[in-house]
Amino acid sequence: MKKLKYDVIVVGGRIGGSTASLFASKSDVDVLMIEKRQEIGSPVQCAEGVTYGAFETLEIEPSERYVRTRVKGAHIHAPDGRRISYEGGIAQGLIIDRKIFDKELAIESAKAGTDIMLKTSVKDLIIKDHKVCGVVAKHLGKTIEIHSDVVIGADGVESNMARYAGIEAYRDPKNIASCAQYELVGIDVDPEYLEFYFGSKIAPKGYLWIFPKGDGVANVGLGIRGTVDNAIDYLNRYVSKLDATPVELNIGGVPVSGPIEKTYTDGFLVVGDAAGQVDPITGGGIHTTISCARIAGEVAAESVKMEDSSAQFLKNYESKWRQDIGKTLDNSVKYRKMADKLNDKDMNALAEFIETQDIEAISKISVLKFVGKHPNLMKILTEIL
Ligand SMILES: Cc1cc2nc3c(=O)[nH]c(=O)nc-3n(C[C@H](O)[C@H](O)[C@H](O)COP(=O)(O)OP(=O)(O)OC[C@H]3O[C@@H](n4cnc5c(N)ncnc54)[C@H](O)[C@@H]3O)c2cc1C
Repeated sequence: MKKLKYDVIVVGGRIGGSTASLFASKSDVDVLMIEKRQEIGSPVQCAEGVTYGAFETLEIEPSERYVRTRVKGAHIHAPDGRRISYEGGIAQGLIIDRKIFDKELAIESAKAGTDIMLKTSVKDLIIKDHKVCGVVAKHLGKTIEIHSDVVIGADGVESNMARYAGIEAYRDPKNIASCAQYELVGIDVDPEYLEFYFGSKIAPKGYLWIFPKGDGVANVGLGIRGTVDNAIDYLNRYVSKLDATPVELNIGGVPVSGPIEKTYTDGFLVVGDAAGQVDPITGGGIHTTISCARIAGEVAAESVKMEDSSAQFLKNYESKWRQDIGKTLDNSVKYRKMADKLNDKDMNALAEFIETQDIEAISKISVLKFVGKHPNLMKILTEIL
């Protein structure tokens, strides 16, 4: 029988929820994590690419139980078929099995002391005197009220918790990239490289990815925005050309207009996709969610110890995560808006320019000379400068 009062309640049991509850529990407060599904980590809504930095933040060594491949770079394909290869930086990392990883993270959190309720859906927040002080949840047909000093919303892109707490949440569909992905068997790809394909025919205002998982298995998916056809229609058109067999299909959304304006209020914090803490250019949200959720767990625990879960205290969470990744996300929003304006011709021209340059030694003069020959690129560059 679970207690009906905790120091911290975390709603959502995937990356954001498990990280926040892990670090809150490590700080010696009572934590309950609530997940509406019967199993943590399933269904997967992810291409499963993650940076080494995410594991450093978690202070966990990547385990061979969930690491499928290690990639050292990326091949980027322009609409005209031109290919640019890139090694290191954000293109370097791991392809993991998130079904296993997400559950292992929840196990780590449980070992640190977190109680976990599965198949329990949070239907509302308990709010008294304008302060969030618990949740109303439904478990196997029964409605229960569970009280806490702080609630952390880690309930993903379709978050209701932020809205219940009176915080502006992600609602506008044009700010959400719609994604579809198959896990395919029998696909011939370079096991050490990610593949990205760009172009209005393949993935308008987005891209198609192939992430190798080893042994001829890969995640092949795409994200798009502002189209009449669905993501799955674009994906099926691409996949029909391959002689490969799907063993899994995932559909999901990625918030791509940057973080929401405010991520805290009295007794409440919001993390991960629910807070828009995703890189708007790449759509990658694992490392950013982990960074922010760790801070949320630690600040929530500190607030319990200080007996102060006011918005004034919890604001520390927002200051810290913005200091950590705020600037990167703001720049990414700018670059995404710029990328939205590129047509296929611009992308081909950019690819040709990069292909013919020594990347390490590109000068401002050579960029200006190149842009001068392409009026649309010049217009875009002038707008962002
Ligand atoms: C197709 C696709 C591919 C992607 N590929 C990558 C990639 O390769 N690399 C990368 O870094 N990022 C990728 N991302 C983004 C990444 O998956 C997310 O940013 C990350 O999973 C966000 O984690 P989260 O914990 O905030 O939210 P989620 O993973 O959405 O978890 C939210 C959890 O809350 C639970 N929940 C929701 N409502 C309630 C409720 N009322 N009560 C109880 N529980 C609730 C849900 O069941 C879910 O388990 C991808 C996203 C998509 C859609």
